[in-house]
Amino acid sequence: MTSVHCYSFLNGDGKNKALLGGKGANLCEMTKIGLNVPPGFVITTQTCIKYLQTNTLSDSLISEIKDQIRQIEHQTGKTFGGNTNPLLVSVRSGSAISMPGMMDTILNLGLNQQTLSALITQTKAPRFAYDAYRRFIQLFGKVALNIDDEKFDVHFKQVKKDNGIIADSALTADHLKKISDLFLTVVEEETGHPFPENVHDQLELSIKAVFQSWSGKRAIDYRREFNITPEMADGTAVNIVTMVFGNMGDDSATGVGFTRNPGTGANEMYGEYLVNAQGEDVVAGIRTPKAVAELRTEMPDLYHQLVELRNKLENHYQEVQDYEYTIENGILYCLQTRNGKMNATAMVKTSVDMFNEGLINKNQALLRIDPELLEQLLHPQLTLNHNVPVLATGLPASPGAACGKCVFDADTAQRLGKAGEKIILLREETKPEDIHGFFAAQGILTSRGGKTSHAAVVARGMGKACIAGAEDIVIDIKSRHAIVGDIHIREGDIITIDGSSGHIYLGKIPTTPPKFSAELKTLLSWADEISELHVYANVDTPENAIIAANYGAKGIGLCRTERMFNAHDRLPLVIDMIISDNKEDREAALVKLFPIQRDDFKQLFEAMSPYPVTVRLLDPPMHEFLPSEQQLQDEIESLKKYITIIKAQKITLESISPNTTLPHPLDQLNEEIIQETISKKITTLKKVRDLFEVNPMLGHRGVRLGMSYPEIYQMQIRSILEAAALCIKQGTPTKPQIMVPQVITAQELTKVKEMVAEIKQEVESQFKVSLNFKFGTMIETVRACTRAASLAEFAEFFSFGTNDLTQATFSFSREDAENKFLPLYESAEILQDNPFEVLDTKGVGELMKLTVKLGREARPDISIGICGEQGGHPKSIRFCHALKLNYVSCSAPRIPIARLATAHAKLLEENS
Ligand code: PEP
Ligand code: MG
Repeated sequence: MTSVHCYSFLNGDGKNKALLGGKGANLCEMTKIGLNVPPGFVITTQTCIKYLQTNTLSDSLISEIKDQIRQIEHQTGKTFGGNTNPLLVSVRSGSAISMPGMMDTILNLGLNQQTLSALITQTKAPRFAYDAYRRFIQLFGKVALNIDDEKFDVHFKQVKKDNGIIADSALTADHLKKISDLFLTVVEEETGHPFPENVHDQLELSIKAVFQSWSGKRAIDYRREFNITPEMADGTAVNIVTMVFGNMGDDSATGVGFTRNPGTGANEMYGEYLVNAQGEDVVAGIRTPKAVAELRTEMPDLYHQLVELRNKLENHYQEVQDYEYTIENGILYCLQTRNGKMNATAMVKTSVDMFNEGLINKNQALLRIDPELLEQLLHPQLTLNHNVPVLATGLPASPGAACGKCVFDADTAQRLGKAGEKIILLREETKPEDIHGFFAAQGILTSRGGKTSHAAVVARGMGKACIAGAEDIVIDIKSRHAIVGDIHIREGDIITIDGSSGHIYLGKIPTTPPKFSAELKTLLSWADEISELHVYANVDTPENAIIAANYGAKGIGLCRTERMFNAHDRLPLVIDMIISDNKEDREAALVKLFPIQRDDFKQLFEAMSPYPVTVRLLDPPMHEFLPSEQQLQDEIESLKKYITIIKAQKITLESISPNTTLPHPLDQLNEEIIQETISKKITTLKKVRDLFEVNPMLGHRGVRLGMSYPEIYQMQIRSILEAAALCIKQGTPTKPQIMVPQVITAQELTKVKEMVAEIKQEVESQFKVSLNFKFGTMIETVRACTRAASLAEFAEFFSFGTNDLTQATFSFSREDAENKFLPLYESAEILQDNPFEVLDTKGVGELMKLTVKLGREARPDISIGICGEQGGHPKSIRFCHALKLNYVSCSAPRIPIARLATAHAKLLEENS
């Protein structure tokens, strides 16, 4: 390699995506392995960054570009700006990480009055030449000269209208010449200068524009949404590629393909093509393309070449490829390849299949799947037995069912999405500038375009349901409604789309939870073979425990007992317990709660048998179980009014007929009962006022409750141990773990441990069993971290409560921060991630490190895990693995993600 800024496809390093961008590196690589790639060169990402700093293309860069162009001229026999066999090029963006459609591309560059007539003479196809020219003027005008598409579109539409033309293909050379002339006028009017005739000027302006598109709003939003950091991709490369034309006649075509089906993962030819068309026509969905299978009959020889190309690509990259090709006068060129973005179903199936085919090993099969992607497999599907008729059908472009209000533009989708509405974005076709609408929508429906249109590709990447090309739907953006036959769908009407079948329905259809495929089970079993961290679940009910066990949880890391208290059949008992103002009354209420809790725990132990179940003693402040002060005041007020009404009713009834009584149960509502209710509410109100705290999250909660009201913790401990005794008696193996929340000192732990020891003895002698369980503590206060050594003397396990620990470390209220200033902190990049979602390894992580060190020194066999929300996040899991924790615990639907992430953590540690 001789140059600093530019590398020819013949000698660029196909592995260096950071420098050459993904597209550029692959063009070099494909050239190297002998695929038919049109000649070209790459300008590096470093050059882009330099340009963005200086705003000029350096002299050395310009001279390298000229050298490279000369080399292409030599390879192709064409001349850039020449008047016989003109060289036309495309100027394409491409960063290290693929950002489909986010940056700019210019095609047919090199056309001017001279090269245009040369092209006409050479091809004898004036229609083709003018078509290329008008496309170039518009694209160059938009990208390099910042002229609105709209300014060109009006003329294009007008010429069509004046000539009664509907399909673009019906435009003649004369029409296209007229359009080109009008476009040239637009450029002159909008910029004050004629369209640049000098082809080198065209090239330089285009390169600058592509560089600049790296810092355009669209690209920045995309990078933020997908967490693409400068370490992952910094700047865009620019690829200058010889143009080949798929619109040279009926022996020309353009197409896009996947080496396997990206919706199902099936190992088959997949893709679409258009005869006599340019690549942008396929991607933009302007014409609905044909399935690649048709190419087999239409151009059999080229179909076989395409199969060969596909096989070569997959064997070389050992990964499913998403490729673009053009057939120019019967010659097949490969224009681009990149790793295929597929949905989770396809990723999982291809991983298992490619391993079975011997193409990749198990580690590769695991590592190629981003754990977060599995979330898609937990998406709901439509219930099978619904009777709702299909309203229309389109192409099933991205699977999963979605339901929501129809919205016809991305801005409205964004606004309603932010307000918490469920949205389906309906468009004729989508463009990259609609991206914010995708983020907000549950699903996307387009009336035009194929399975590789923008809408389809982007939705698949995001795992959102998408139907493309539903041509029976006529969308009228202006009046904000769509028509299917004689049915009108207005903005705000609810529809359901099924991205797996392509069916569209009016109204909401119930959904069923998805099921684990055999391939996913296989893949996760490979993950389990590798992982060192165990994956536990945060669940509170037997139903969720069963779901978690099915997802592969190897235990319960956190059962928040207060969630059980909130069930409607328990809450009145809990309230009685709280409002009692003496120990006896409280114990009477606890006696009623006890069998219910014991039964809950028994069911939980059964559902998770034989794995550990960690039950946390009561944590939240008591007032959380009581109604608010305002609610109680309103209710008391209403009840008082009601007494007057009752009296009036009585008088009225007696005046009509002395023997009439109110129907049941209204006859029960006599004054006495209402008075009793009022006085209970007054007592509760008083208690609410007594319990009021300015900072309840830092107040009377957790083990502090256990210290103030030991009888509550005693009841819970007895429920846990008796449930375990009952399980032992019936032969259900169980491993209970009693966990104390909010601990700051060993003295708190000792007190609870004494209660446990006493109750254990009683239960063992009552049930004649020997109980085997663990006693441990949450680590969620900063003091607990610093005192871990002394806590470990009493605790057999630690569980990091990183929700509270993050709150305490940052001094951020976990209740408020995420809605107030955290979004700003993230967008201003003061913080890279929301620390309540992704573990803050630099701050909270340091406390965890200290805790692990102190804890293990004091008790080498101590088991340590994490049960805060961050425990299900792959990045956090990597950190927990490095800390050598024993387990991570997360909500049930994140378990498959965590299982894969724990394997990744191990494999990436070995790789690094
Ligand atoms: C925690 O603080 O991380 C935790 C798991 O407990 P909770 O969220 O219930 O306070
Ligand atoms: Mg907590």
